[in-house]
Amino acid sequence: MKKESFHIYLGLGTNQGDKEKNLKRAIELLSLALGKYTLLSSFIETEPWGFESQNSFLNCVVTFTTTLTPFELLEKTEKIERELGRVTKSQNGTYHDRIIDIDILFYGEKIIQTKRLTIPHPLIQERDFVLNPLFEIAPQLIHPIVGKTIAELKEEVNKKQL
Ligand code: ADP
Ligand code: MG
Repeated sequence: MKKESFHIYLGLGTNQGDKEKNLKRAIELLSLALGKYTLLSSFIETEPWGFESQNSFLNCVVTFTTTLTPFELLEKTEKIERELGRVTKSQNGTYHDRIIDIDILFYGEKIIQTKRLTIPHPLIQERDFVLNPLFEIAPQLIHPIVGKTIAELKEEVNKKQL
């Protein structure tokens, strides 16, 4: 039987070293693991979120089609994070500088809530560094829990920041 394939959205971030190179390398390794990406946002520079750091971030969102399960996908993205030299993991909401962070934002319309994996990624609707690049490539995408489009969520975050 043919495996079902899903459209997935990954959020990438880096605030160490040659950030543009880090994002490009991550996209290259992801494309080797998953097949060529379908959509890619621009690379957007943002201030650190949730922690103090001198180093600004470079963020983007990239989409793929995959037959991997969500947990197989997480294993792949974590392997690529390690290959790129990431050593520390965030724990209990404590954030650190990082060479690369790959977050699974959406996996089709699936909702997964386990200790190891939460999909959609729980902080999408609060983070403009995720919403801005997402808006570039998928403004009409509907968040399966919140029931609003990315365009609507982005507007709400922008209002809060005023
Ligand atoms: P953060 O991305 O919040 O800075 P990390 O990248 O260090 O944190 O990830 C911490 C843990 O988050 C990972 O070990 C992973 O199991 C878990 N996790 C839960 N949901 C997701 C998701 N949607 N995408 C990526 N990691 C997730
Ligand atoms: Mg992460």
